Amino acid sequence: MIFLPYLGIILSLKFTLHNTDGAARAGALQTDRGEVPTPIFMPVGTQGAVKAIEPRELREVGARILLGNTYHLCLRPGTDLIERAGGLHRFIGWDHPILTDSGGYQVFSLSDLRGIDPDGVNFKSHLDGSVHRFTPESVVDIQRSLGSDVMMVLDECAPYPCDEEYASRSNDLTVRWADRCRSRMEQTAPLYGASQSLFAIVQGSVYPGIRQASARALVAMDFEGYAIGGLSVGEPVEAMYAITELCTGILPEAKPRYLMGVGTPQNILESIARGVDMFDCVMPTRNGRNATFFTRKGKINIRNARFATDLAPIDEACECYACRTFSRAYLRHLFKSQEILGLQLATIHNLSFYLWLTAEARKAICEKRFAPWQKSILSELVPEVGEDE
Ligand SMILES: [Zn+2]
Repeated sequence: MIFLPYLGIILSLKFTLHNTDGAARAGALQTDRGEVPTPIFMPVGTQGAVKAIEPRELREVGARILLGNTYHLCLRPGTDLIERAGGLHRFIGWDHPILTDSGGYQVFSLSDLRGIDPDGVNFKSHLDGSVHRFTPESVVDIQRSLGSDVMMVLDECAPYPCDEEYASRSNDLTVRWADRCRSRMEQTAPLYGASQSLFAIVQGSVYPGIRQASARALVAMDFEGYAIGGLSVGEPVEAMYAITELCTGILPEAKPRYLMGVGTPQNILESIARGVDMFDCVMPTRNGRNATFFTRKGKINIRNARFATDLAPIDEACECYACRTFSRAYLRHLFKSQEILGLQLATIHNLSFYLWLTAEARKAICEKRFAPWQKSILSELVPEVGEDE
C-alpha cells in the first residue's frame, strides 16, 4: 500500500480515493474495462438489457458501469450461450464495466423457495418452475461465465421485518458463504482475459449488533469491495440511514462501498453523505416507463393535464437528448398515445438525471462543498404538491 498525505492517495490496486468531504468520498474504481468515477449510479440491466435504452445511448447519458443479474441470466438465456458468445459484455454489446448481483436477492424474493441449507439454496424458477440450486461456489462459477468485472457473493437477504435471532442466523450463513465464494474465486480464473473482483455483502437487517459483527467478519476476510445489502426493503428511512452510517464507519476507507437497491435522489445524497460510493436502483428506469420524470425541481408525472400545452423541456437545466429536443407537451402526447418513444425518452432523461446527480456530488466533494450543495439540491428536489405520485 502506498500512502501519500495529499490528493491522489493510492489506497488499493482497485480503488483510488481522490478526495473526501466529511464522510463523503470522491474516488475511482479501476477495472480492466475502464475506470468508474465514484460516487456513481449504476443503471440496472437485470436481463442483459437496460429497459428501453440502447447501450450507445447509455454511454451518452453518462453510464460508466451497468448491473446485470446472475439469477435471471443463468435461467435465461443460460451461461452456455453467454460463454459461447464470448461473455456477457460481447453478448449484450457493452464493453465497459459490468457488476453482477449474485442472485441471492432474487432467489429469496422472486422464486418459489424450496429450502435453504448450510450448503446452498434450492429454488424453482419463476419462469417455468424448473428446480435449480445455488451454492456459494456455483454463483462464482456463473459469474466467471458471465465475465462481470465485479462479482457479488451469495447472500441471504433476510425479509423485513424479521426477528433478531433469524437475522443473526441468516447473517452467520451469509458470512460463511462469503468465505466460500472467496475460496472459489481463488481457485478459478477469469475466462475472457479481464480481471474480476469480488465484493462481500453486509447483512443483519436493522440490528446494529448483527450489522457490526457482519461488517467486521467480512472486513477480516479482506474483500476487494463491500456492499451493504438488505436495506430499502420496507424499513423506515431513518433506520436505513442509521445502518448505512454504522456500516460505513466499520468498512475500510480503502475499499469501495456499494449500497444495494437504493434509491430516490434524496436517499442517494444522504447515503453519499454517509460514505457510500456506488448505487443501483430500478427507480429511474421503472418510474420513467410509468411517465414519472425526475427533475431538479422534483418529480413530475407527465400525464398530468397541466402539461398538455407546455412547450418547455422536462428540465430546463438538463442537457440530455430528450430535454434538448422535445417539450413536455410532446412527451405527454407520447405517453397518452402509448408510443414506445415515450418510454425511451423518459429512460434517457431519468438516467441522465441520476448520473448528473452522482457526477455533481463528486464535483462538490472534490471542491469541499458537499454539505451546502446537498442542502441546496434537496431543498429544490422536494416534489411539488399534486405532482408526486
Ligand atoms: Zn433531460
